[in-house]
Amino acid sequence: MIYQRHIPREELFSSQLEMLMQNGRLATVSANLVGVAATVLIFWPFMQLSTILLWAAAFLILLLLRSLQMSNALVERRYQTKPGRVYWQLIIGAALTGVVWSTVYIFAASHVPVTMQYVFLLLIVMITAFSLGFSVAIREYFVVYVFTSLWPIAWWSLAHYWEQPYNMLIGLVLLAFCALLIYVCDQTYKSFRNMISMTWEREHIAQELGDLTSSLRDRNRQLRDARRQLTDLANVDELTGLGNRRLVNSALQEEMNRARRSGGELSLILLDVDYFKNYNDTYGHTAGDTVLQKLADLMQRAATRAGEVVARYGGEEFILVLPGASADSAMRTASRLRDLVNEERIPHETSQVEQYITVSQGVLTVQPNSEMDPTDLVKRVDKALYQAKDDGRNAIAVA
Ligand code: GH3
Ligand code: MG
Ligand code: MG
Repeated sequence: MIYQRHIPREELFSSQLEMLMQNGRLATVSANLVGVAATVLIFWPFMQLSTILLWAAAFLILLLLRSLQMSNALVERRYQTKPGRVYWQLIIGAALTGVVWSTVYIFAASHVPVTMQYVFLLLIVMITAFSLGFSVAIREYFVVYVFTSLWPIAWWSLAHYWEQPYNMLIGLVLLAFCALLIYVCDQTYKSFRNMISMTWEREHIAQELGDLTSSLRDRNRQLRDARRQLTDLANVDELTGLGNRRLVNSALQEEMNRARRSGGELSLILLDVDYFKNYNDTYGHTAGDTVLQKLADLMQRAATRAGEVVARYGGEEFILVLPGASADSAMRTASRLRDLVNEERIPHETSQVEQYITVSQGVLTVQPNSEMDPTDLVKRVDKALYQAKDDGRNAIAVA
């Protein structure tokens, strides 16, 4: 993610164009329309009506064309695709309008009484001042307008200072006024650009923050998933897919707490393969692994009740945690398990018990109290398992 601090030049330029056209379209047309109406009224008594109307029509067409050009540029988003072209069209439009007003004034100077001429000048000054409000978005637009409307009038008045009583004064005042307008335009333009940049930055930062937040959220989710996977992996025995000693210890602790709270029983079965070392020596370690996987399946088949945990406790020792199981019930599970293993008839010719794989099991049933901990229980069930081994293997011994 690239963090951009400043608005790119092109983007700033097109937003300026967009703003100028959005605000200027209606204002240009309406200000100039008022100007046209006033001009017609001023010139009416002193000139031929057809000439005035012809001028008005030509000027209205110019205004219409400018307005159409702005509307199209806005609709087609040309201020983004061809900003240079739109810019020059706007500048030329402003220049043409300015030239029309200055020409008409100079023409008026020799065709209407001097008071009317001054009224007309006032009108032009007002239109120009009014344009300042919406055209600051593009500084050059306003400057060009001033230099084609008021500025030539100022110089013309200075050059013809003897013709009308106040021409010299008008010329000087107009020059000063042009300078003032341009200064104001420059200042407003600068704050305007700052405003656009700041708005842009704020939007940009808000968007970046949004992106950042959502990517952080994704990352968090990934981390959570990874952590869950890690926990799962840490609790799972790779060979058999059963829980491992770690899982048994925490499950055992949990079940002991639960049983203590409810005053219920908890049974454990510890299972060990008989003469498994011999099996490995005879059939190989890989075959031994297959046997362990097979036994894991059988144990899962034997532990069907909800909450029962089957795990590989170590090498070829497995453990079953049977929450809520009474001694009888645990004994039944152990017997069923022994039967399941025996029914498999997995050949084991070096076993000293049978010709197939057998298992010995220790069974323990307790009503947990606060003095017991998981290690105690495992020790006790382990003892029972030894007992089963002593009893001749393929046996079940109760602690
Ligand atoms: P017992 O009847 O007294 O249990 O005799 P045993 O030979 O089974 O003795 P013990 O339980 O001590 O033997 C453990 C053997 O289990 C030793 C080792 O070869 C084997 N073993 C432990 N872990 C694995 C394993 O992951 N894969 C295989 N194939 N064998 C294992
Ligand atoms: Mg063993
Ligand atoms: Mg063994």
